[in-house]
Amino acid sequence: MDTMRKRLVVIGAGPMGLYAAFAAAQRNLEVTVLERDRIGESLLSWGSTRFFSPLEMNVPAWVRAALPGLPSGDALLTGPEMVERVLLPLSRHPLVNDKIRTRHRVRGIARAGLSREDFPAHPVRHEKAFRILVETREPFPAETAAGGAAPNVMPGGEYLLDADFVFDATGGYRLGNGMGSGGLMAPGESASGPAVIRRLGDMEAALQAMRGGRILLLGHGHSAAHALLALRDASQGNREVSVTWAFRSRNMRPFRETPDDPLPGRAAITAPANALAAAPPAFLDIRRGAALAALEKSGSRLKARFGAGDPVEVDAVFAFTGYRPDLSFLSELALDLAPATQGTRKLHALLSGAADCLSVPAPAAGDLESGEPGFFLLGAKSYGRSNTFLLRDGILQLEMILKHAVG
Ligand SMILES: Cc1cc2nc3c(=O)[nH]c(=O)nc-3n(C[C@H](O)[C@H](O)[C@H](O)COP(=O)(O)OP(=O)(O)OC[C@H]3O[C@@H](n4cnc5c(N)ncnc54)[C@H](O)[C@@H]3O)c2cc1C
Repeated sequence: MDTMRKRLVVIGAGPMGLYAAFAAAQRNLEVTVLERDRIGESLLSWGSTRFFSPLEMNVPAWVRAALPGLPSGDALLTGPEMVERVLLPLSRHPLVNDKIRTRHRVRGIARAGLSREDFPAHPVRHEKAFRILVETREPFPAETAAGGAAPNVMPGGEYLLDADFVFDATGGYRLGNGMGSGGLMAPGESASGPAVIRRLGDMEAALQAMRGGRILLLGHGHSAAHALLALRDASQGNREVSVTWAFRSRNMRPFRETPDDPLPGRAAITAPANALAAAPPAFLDIRRGAALAALEKSGSRLKARFGAGDPVEVDAVFAFTGYRPDLSFLSELALDLAPATQGTRKLHALLSGAADCLSVPAPAAGDLESGEPGFFLLGAKSYGRSNTFLLRDGILQLEMILKHAVG
């Protein structure tokens, strides 16, 4: 093993984690990717939802050059197609195929021997390696261990791994925001069980299985727009589906539309969803400016209460109230996060002036600092709760970090 090679641990094998691993391996860094589930786990949960940005915006030129036979640049792939056509072929590339450990979940990270309080923002923190606590549910494949050395996996499936650099590319599609007012969980929400659905793929599966019934749809972001159109289609099919749709906005057309949208795939969702909002058909009962006040079990159904208006009994809740990043494994790092978004503070300052995700300025190297030298939030995780992230932005971030901070 070359002891001078810098060790990079990438957390998450979504698109950004895999692009990072590939680019770092090309630069001869010693890379290990830790993925808690499967490659492309978040994208696999999109169901039939398509990217609204074309493939050429979503895949860096240096990945496209290495993978012959990719779909054309103007293709709008579904999430699972992106995994099948791009991420899995990339994961099999000889530069990275023995570097990716699926079903290895990161549980904690610290500077070896330094607590979060020791030497804050001091360069001495950079001199200490990162120490990462990993939990695995798979027998450890010794031949894929970083540098060829099998780690000492404890009987419970945990082990430690050291790194000079860490990229946290764990996205932000796992933890849903609360359904109540102000993003709080509504009373009864945590006990409401599997009838609450938060991912588009799960929603499609639930709709397929339903003969009929009433759905409560929450939210007015892009995922809610997708859900609304799927519910319209289900109500037009041979299923008796009716919907109560509650959202915070008081606008007649609550979904944000961009005049002459350069991303036609986005307009193809927001325009018809807004048309339904402005003139609701019989299947759709709309509650504007409404927040869920409580959710309680009522036999096999759920009873949803709102501040005003009658309660409604539903068979399922499709909750698209946004997502927040998982910071649980970062508590021992001294990170400089934006209070509002929980993304990095400097990046948040850059984003807050942008009217649309397409007008986010390119970040400078300093905008990507996390407060902890050598540790970077990469991809959707770097934007925290802000839903304006595009893979195009993540690719720019990655190129900047590799050029200026990792070398
Ligand atoms: C429905 C939807 C549509 C979108 N459409 C577009 C679009 O058209 N264009 C665009 O550019 N962007 C789009 N985005 C935004 C963004 O590109 C995606 O969210 C994308 O998946 C982000 O990639 P990522 O690699 O940063 O994170 P993710 O794809 O979320 O990958 C994170 C990975 O980290 C893993 N992980 C999580 N926690 C741990 C842990 N503790 N240890 C180890 N691994 C962990 C996860 O299992 C996952 O595999 C969309 C997002 C959504 C939700």
